[in-house]
Amino acid sequence: MADECIFCKIIDGEIPSAKVYEDDEVYAFLDISQVTKGHTLVIPKQHCQDIYHTHPETAEKLFSRVPKIANAIKQTYAPVGLNVLNNNEEAAGQSVFHLHIHLIPRYGERDGFS
Ligand code: 5GP
Ligand code: ZN
Repeated sequence: MADECIFCKIIDGEIPSAKVYEDDEVYAFLDISQVTKGHTLVIPKQHCQDIYHTHPETAEKLFSRVPKIANAIKQTYAPVGLNVLNNNEEAAGQSVFHLHIHLIPRYGERDGFS
């Protein structure tokens, strides 16, 4: 765990979160400010700050869980589409420096996210 990393604290249970999925390597939870209903973040349990600093094995574990979690979101929220996003470095919109994948369900013209 990296000191002062909020996502490490979420994994640890020190900060509460709405769990979507968990196994030994990966944790998924609802984004605190969801851009659409069901907006989920998928993170490796091992801290790494971004895609540049991630061991390929950690990335493999993280990305391999995405189809399963995407299907769970599809079943729960019945979106008409889904964005899979990963921001790296501030200029690309990264605000939490623990690697994460956004899964953003889309609901058509009225979902307010573009
Ligand atoms: P980024 O901007 O780094 O790609 O995404 C970070 C995301 O983490 C943001 O969408 C933000 O809403 C979410 N976030 C920040 N702090 C917390 C928190 O304490 N709990 C949860 N569930 N999400 C958080
Ligand atoms: Zn961390």
